[in-house]
Parts: sequence; structure tokens; C-alpha cells
Amino acid sequence: MMMKTATTPGRFGEFGGRYVPETLVPALDELEAAFDRLWNDDDFRAELDMLLLDYVGRPTPLYHASRFSERCGGATVYLKREDLAHTGSHKLNNALGQALLARALGKTRLIAETGAGQHGVATATAAALLGLPCQVYMGRTDMKRQRLNLIRMELLGAEVIPVDSGAKTLKDATSQAIRDWMGSYRDTHYVIGSCVGPHPYPLMVRTFQSVIGVEARRQILEQHGELPDGLVACVGGGSNAIGLFHPFIDDDIPMVGVEAAGAGLASGRHSASLVGGRAGVLHGSYSFLLQDDDGQVAPTHSIAAGLDYPGVGPEHAWLQATGRARYVSVTDDEASAAYSALAKTEGIIPALESSHALAYAMSWGRELGPDGVLLVNLSGRGDKDVVRDDDDG
Ligand SMILES: *Cc1c(COP(=O)(O)O)cnc(C)c1O
Repeated sequence: MMMKTATTPGRFGEFGGRYVPETLVPALDELEAAFDRLWNDDDFRAELDMLLLDYVGRPTPLYHASRFSERCGGATVYLKREDLAHTGSHKLNNALGQALLARALGKTRLIAETGAGQHGVATATAAALLGLPCQVYMGRTDMKRQRLNLIRMELLGAEVIPVDSGAKTLKDATSQAIRDWMGSYRDTHYVIGSCVGPHPYPLMVRTFQSVIGVEARRQILEQHGELPDGLVACVGGGSNAIGLFHPFIDDDIPMVGVEAAGAGLASGRHSASLVGGRAGVLHGSYSFLLQDDDGQVAPTHSIAAGLDYPGVGPEHAWLQATGRARYVSVTDDEASAAYSALAKTEGIIPALESSHALAYAMSWGRELGPDGVLLVNLSGRGDKDVVRDDDDG
């Protein structure tokens, strides 16, 4: 398969770039230069690799889920077990990389945005590990519906700052974190939690998360002897998906990103930015997003708080435009059915986010039949989803 390459730095085709106030340009330039230098620095990479191994618990296993496979039309399903990474999801791969980068840059404070709280927990964890103070912006609505992660962040020594603007969810927390950073970047690093935002964030987050795909590609070749018939990952901002996909990009296999269709695409209550949105600018980057007829960012809904975001990383918009990856959506009900199916067949409670990928594997597997082989990214564990007190959507 021939790949068109995006040549302009910071652009994926027409997508990406930097749509930020002038004041942030020096901060982004500094970050871009530091990332270029440190990613090629042996000492930096050795420290990151050591921590990924001994602290995060990598490599995470690739597991052949044979009883769940029966629910997928008998197709062979392998799960990349990011749920077993420290703090329970893929988020720490990125937060740790960025925290090490911040320390190397001489920054003395970390800030982050969080929705479901998983990225806030990962950043608070990395901050505790490196002895850096940490403040996390979180919408008041999310603080109520993700209480467990709120408590975890505080236990880890982070300060959670409530955000009361807008719908009081992830989009509003992100805007608030950007505002903080505009006034604080000289001593503060803003740890963005997904492959979104202005250049160099999408590229940097993809690079830190690519450890998922690098391991998975090696593991499937070792365990199965050949590449699978397809890759599946859920897409909120898109970081676990791009981390899995990127190392397979030159392989001739289909890659499918699964967005949240919420109450159904037709209901308008969903978070499917690529499937149901249009191109526009959000949080410093040109990509797809959910917007109304006037171009205002539309309200979103998903049963999975980590997918409840109106934007998506620009590289996914490009992969969709070039056809190298395909994007589909799965409803709340379909994701809930897959959540319980994996728990009952495998003894693994998946995150509701990851359950969207599992639900699509169930239908894709039925199309492929018993000869099919799918590799699904299990982006996180579902402990956080067992008690859901206040899901107002
Ligand atoms: C945050 C999160 C997601 C969504 O974020 P991406 O950047 O799209 O990966 C998916 N799964 C889990 C478990 C998460 O915590």
C-alpha cells in the first residue's frame, strides 16, 4: 500500500498546525526543539525505557482471548493489555514521557486537563515520581461523575482545580489549562493527554504512545507468526489508537478507529468527531470536530467519559482523508454489551472506552469468520466504571 507522506512539519496533510495566540509560540518552539533533541538523546531514552520497564510494567502482554473470540464469530482476537499498565491505562506512557521532558527543560511545575480523570491520575503519578508539583484542571461535572479518580489525584499529591465554565467537562478544562499555560510557560509544562492540540503535541504524544504498536507488532509476529487481518482501537482524542496504528502504517492491513456514537448518531447525542463532524479549529489545531451550523462547538455525549470530547487528533483526520484508516462508531448500548461480554468470557473488566473497540471487534469478527485474526487495543481497565453515580451525559 502506497502512503502519501505529510511533509510540512506539524501538518498531517492539511490538518494539524498551530492555531494559537502569539504568546504561546515561544513555548511551543521551545518544546518542539527539546523534544527533537531529547528523543534522540541516549541518556533520555535510557531513563524513559528503564521507567517503562520497571515502573509502568512494560511490555504489556498480548493476550489471545479465546473465549471472547467465540463472541466474535470465532475470529481469533488478541488483546493488547494496556489495562495492565501502571495506573490502569495507556495514559502513563505519554504523561511519563512529557514529565521527563519537562524536567529536562528545567520546568518546575506540571499542569494537565482531565475528563474521566485517567490522564489527571497519570500526570499526578509522573509528578509524584519526579517530585514536581502538579495542578489538574477538571470540569465540575466530571469531578462528580469520576469521584474515584479525583480521590486518587489528591492522594498522589496533585491539586485538582474545578472548572465551572461551559458544560463543565473536558473541553472546558482544556481551555482553562491553555489559559494557565499562556501565563505560566516559563516555569510550567502543560502535559496534554492526547494527540490533540498545537504542534508539536500530536507528534510528541504519538511518539510516546507508539510503544504500544511497536510491542504489539513484535508480539503478534512472535505469537501468531504473521500480522493480523486488522487493528481496532477506540478513539477519543486518538492517542491509544495512533500509538497502536503508527508502527503498522506501512503494513498492508486495515486499521479501524472506533468513536462513540452515544445514544445514536441520528440522536445528535454522541462524540463521533470523525464520523459525524466537519473540519475546523479547536484547541490550537485544525482537525475534525463536532459543531453546529454556526460553527459553534457542539455538546457531546458518551457513556465513556474518556471519549466525551468534541475534537480528535489531526493525524486521524488525515488518515481518514487518505483512506489509510477507517473510522466507525459504536453506541453506548453496544459498548455496554461488549463490556459485560469481556468480563464474563475472560474475567477482564475493560474500560467503557475500550469496550467500544471490543464491540466493533465483535461485529467485524463475525464478518471475517473463524479464519479472521484481529488485534484489539484494550486501552484501559474498567474499575473506574463499575460504580457510575452521576452520568448525566
Ligand atoms: C483517555 C482514554 C481513552 C481515550 O483517549 P485516546 O487519546 O483516544 O486514547 C481511551 N481509553 C482509556 C482507557 C482512556 O483512559
